[in-house]
Formats: sequence, C-alpha cells, structure tokens
Amino acid sequence: MKKATTRSKNAKQARKTTKVSRAKAKQMVDELCKLYPDAQCELNFDNNYQLLTAVILSAQTTDVQVNKVTQLLFKKYPQAIDLAEAALDDIKEIVRPTGYYNAKANNIQQCAQALVARHSGIVPDNMDELVKLPGVGRKTANVVLGVAFGVPGWSVDTHVQRLSRRFGFTQETDPSKIESDLQKLFPGEDWSKISITIIWHGRRMCYARKPDCLQCPINKLCPSAETC
Ligand code: SF4
Repeated sequence: MKKATTRSKNAKQARKTTKVSRAKAKQMVDELCKLYPDAQCELNFDNNYQLLTAVILSAQTTDVQVNKVTQLLFKKYPQAIDLAEAALDDIKEIVRPTGYYNAKANNIQQCAQALVARHSGIVPDNMDELVKLPGVGRKTANVVLGVAFGVPGWSVDTHVQRLSRRFGFTQETDPSKIESDLQKLFPGEDWSKISITIIWHGRRMCYARKPDCLQCPINKLCPSAETC
C-alpha cells in the first residue's frame, strides 16, 4: 500500500515537469530499445580504472576519439598506480587530441593517485566514494556504476539532456533536475539501459543539428518531430 502511494506521488511529481505520460514515455523507449538491442558503452577498457579514466576523458569529445588515445595511454599505464606515478607532461601529450587536455591530464592523474591512496588502486562501487574522486561527477559515476557494477543510474550527458527535452521527458536544463525527472518517469532497474539507448539514438539519428526525423521510428510519438 505504501509502495503504491509513493508511486502515485512520484507520478504526480513527474507530471509537473514532463510533457508526456508514463505510458507514452515507455512506448517511446520501448521502440528505441527495439532499434538498438545491443546498445552498450562504446569506450574500450580492460579494467575499472581504465573505464573510469576513459569516461573522464570523454567529456566534450567522442568515444571514438577517446578510444584512439586510450589505446596508447592504457598500454603505457595499464593500472591506476602506473598513471599515478607517470610524468604529467607525457599524459598531457597523449590525451591532447581529446581537447581540454591540461585539465583532463590533471584530473585523470589526480584521480588515479586518489584511487591508489584511498582505495588501493581499486575503483569504489558506490556513488558517495566515486564523486569524491578528482574529476568525477554524478554523470561519470553513474556510467561507472552501471557499466562496471550493474548499478542502475542515469548518465545525463549532452545526448540525454537534449533528447529528454525533445521527447518531453523533462523541461529542465540542469542535469541534476533532468536526472530527477527521468528517475520519476521510469523504473529504477531500467535506468542504465534506457540511458545508453537514448545516447545511441542521439549519436545515430537524433543529432543536435538536423535530427533525422524522417527516418526516425518514433517520429509519430515524438513531440519534437516537426519542430526540430
Ligand atoms: S522524431 Fe526527430 S526529434 Fe524526435 S526523436 Fe526522432 S529524430 Fe529526434
């Protein structure tokens, strides 16, 4: 009974900031899940430290670009301890093609140092500890939790922000408020799967500029089909 009350309270809260019903939102993501049944993280990594590092590097660039630089980065520095002790200038040179390379090199090295100092080089499996690491915010932590540990979460990156607004899932612009709207709209166990599916659609069809609405399988459901 208590569960039902909480659910209806969440549904009411969701309706305040979303423009579509839960049923329609489900229909839209079901169609996208059919379109991308194999949607998954597209970053290359061999262990959780590498995943975390790659996700930090992925800000403001593509996964393809990150995979190019991590090929060398992880060959030279395969574990957190290796990157923690590396020459900062060498890290900068390697990650330069991902953009913002000064900040990113600092972040990934300080993150590796913190992993070694606080967690014996092991990536923690919870949000509280992850967001205390240098360069790690909720978006990065949610990707790592979902991919490495199977903990459902929303990775509110640029695609999820843009598409969630286009779909009418939220009217917010602040990532944490978008995350909150999405959490209310979908069951917790589906968050990671829907999140990565939306990211795939953003990369493959619902582009920031000139989305391919004509070919899009949800153009009859999407409230932005005619306006984008
Ligand atoms: S109809 Fe257009 S705006 Fe809507 S999801 Fe498809 S591509 Fe994006």
